[in-house]
Amino acid sequence: MHILLIEDEKALARVIEVELLLQGMQVTVRSDGKSGLAAALDGNPDLVILDWMLPDVEGIHVCRALRSQKVDLPIIMITARQGVSDEVRGLEEGADDYLVKPFDMELLLARIRAVMRRSTAGLAPCLSCGSIVLNDDEHAVYRDGLPVHLTNKEYDILHHTGPDTGRLPPAH
Ligand code: CA
Repeated sequence: MHILLIEDEKALARVIEVELLLQGMQVTVRSDGKSGLAAALDGNPDLVILDWMLPDVEGIHVCRALRSQKVDLPIIMITARQGVSDEVRGLEEGADDYLVKPFDMELLLARIRAVMRRSTAGLAPCLSCGSIVLNDDEHAVYRDGLPVHLTNKEYDILHHTGPDTGRLPPAH
């Protein structure tokens, strides 16, 4: 799981980065909108954590730019701005979720899992069992929305022995 973090507050970026690394995630950090957008387009991240207030291009414009290029990447916006109208605007511009600073790291991790669950649930064809989702197209396994790395043999065993698997509904 590769997370792109676009945040100009160095101390906060470091805290988030360390927490994500401890969770076994790969993290790329960018501190401005322009290089962040480039990293989102070229770096193939699985999810973007995007600060609203950045020194050059605002996070909301980065979000809009990604969506206008049909980049279907999960985006969680983080911001010190508070207010329902900001949240609505963030979501309307294509963010998948929105967190107001300061936030608890546990909450950020829970949001990441939730957004990834929704995102991977849209991939078809999938088999699911509890928190485990198998994606046959990708030959990938997700647990709580996070990728699980298996060898081909392990994947085959899981695929053939998974109990009572059921098809997920198609993507919306
Ligand atoms: Ca900022």
